[in-house]
Amino acid sequence: MCVRAQDLVGCQYRRRQQQRFPAARPTALARERSARLAAARRHTLALLPTVPGRVDIEEADPEEAELATLEALVSEAPLITSAEFAGAGWRVRVDILHRATDGTYVPIVISAHRAARPAEGRRVPTLRTAELGLGGQAHEEPFRIKHHTSDGYRLALATRALSALGLAGPWGGVIGQDPTRAFLHRTESHQAPLSAALAAPIPTVPRRVKECEWCPYQRECRAELEEMDDISLVLPGERAASLRRRHIDTVGKLVAADLGEVSQLAAAWREGIPVLRARQGRPIPRARREIDVDVEAYLDHGVYLWGLWDGESYHPFVTWEPLGGAAEAATFAAFWAHLRRLLEEGEGPEDVRVYCYSNNGENHWLRSSARRFAGQPGVPTEQEVEEFIRSSQWVDVFQYVREELAGPEGLGLKTVAPVAGYQWAEVELGGEGSVAAYRRARTSPAERPRLLRYNEDDCRATAAVRQWLSEGAPGIPLLSAQGQGRRAAE
Ligand code: SF4
Repeated sequence: MCVRAQDLVGCQYRRRQQQRFPAARPTALARERSARLAAARRHTLALLPTVPGRVDIEEADPEEAELATLEALVSEAPLITSAEFAGAGWRVRVDILHRATDGTYVPIVISAHRAARPAEGRRVPTLRTAELGLGGQAHEEPFRIKHHTSDGYRLALATRALSALGLAGPWGGVIGQDPTRAFLHRTESHQAPLSAALAAPIPTVPRRVKECEWCPYQRECRAELEEMDDISLVLPGERAASLRRRHIDTVGKLVAADLGEVSQLAAAWREGIPVLRARQGRPIPRARREIDVDVEAYLDHGVYLWGLWDGESYHPFVTWEPLGGAAEAATFAAFWAHLRRLLEEGEGPEDVRVYCYSNNGENHWLRSSARRFAGQPGVPTEQEVEEFIRSSQWVDVFQYVREELAGPEGLGLKTVAPVAGYQWAEVELGGEGSVAAYRRARTSPAERPRLLRYNEDDCRATAAVRQWLSEGAPGIPLLSAQGQGRRAAE
């Protein structure tokens, strides 16, 4: 069986499961992800020029597509789309082959993620999508490449195939969320890791990792993990690496090893206890007027919803227009004006406070929105935003939660708020699910209330958690004194 580049990234046990359960259907999340990639691919390919001699490989059968690719290369086609190559035990599909002026080909892959970020002082060679196949030269532009292993492996495999035909150059390209340009980099750096990945043995047992959430074999693997009582059930990924080296590789052994908090969390997981009180934290600051905020962004493109709960009503500042333009700027300005009005109604700097749960996203989008929309009506300056972020009026509830609590499945809002007595009206969307829901909501107004309700729930759940925390987080078991001591010593 031939392996594809994407199979070499992440959990390798999946390759074993593919053989055992060939009829398994992708999960809804995986289908959403594929649909997003297919849409990005269609959009990008539509921007390619109609060049004389261009070849679009349309054969669905991989072997026929491979033959058609070879024919297109022999005919010196200036531009080839959906090319297929195969080698010893592997196959790769390359979205675009661009013929350079020296007769070599530049393999280019299309991905749904960001391929580079603007970076003053850096220079990256790029090719314009609309000029591919026209023999144009690369431009130098101020970006920094974001490498993704799967893209790197695809380009490295394509380069191996092109090398065997004497048609490889040093460059490969990635077209990411900006469909107008391909970012070029040398594929050589991917060859050694690719060789190692191709040579690595397939594991004989599963191990719980992040990607299990969208993997079609999650049910089968969960059963195997539970039968093995594998330690990854409570410490996924590499978190148990040092314990495994000490032969502590099951939940039972971890509980029995009596290693303090980690052992107690394993015991709590066994008993279905989501949250333990680890120690006394600082009291969370309260105020006469309390406001809870949650932001919803679409990938790296921008913010479509700033949600605000003022204790009595929910205020969504939302746009369904394309992000990055005047509509997003106006939405941000309206949210900021409302927030400032509430803050200024206070009788002192600490009479009104604004809360969120884990402020990384909010801080990023506050700063980024001020920067991207600088000068537009009602948009605050970066300095104003910075002053707010640094003020004692802006409170991250998560910081207080993690000081006081511990949980075998982490301390995310979806874990802690139900313990604090809050229930979501909507089923959890998750990261990938909310991306898909937003894409549907852009064109289908019937989908929008669900996203608003979900955001309102996040705001109100944050309010519930801080309220519960200030009441002493009643009703949760204590981490034992021994566990607390070891936690403090760590
Ligand atoms: S469910 Fe998890 S462990 Fe199993 S194959 Fe998928 S990613 Fe790997």
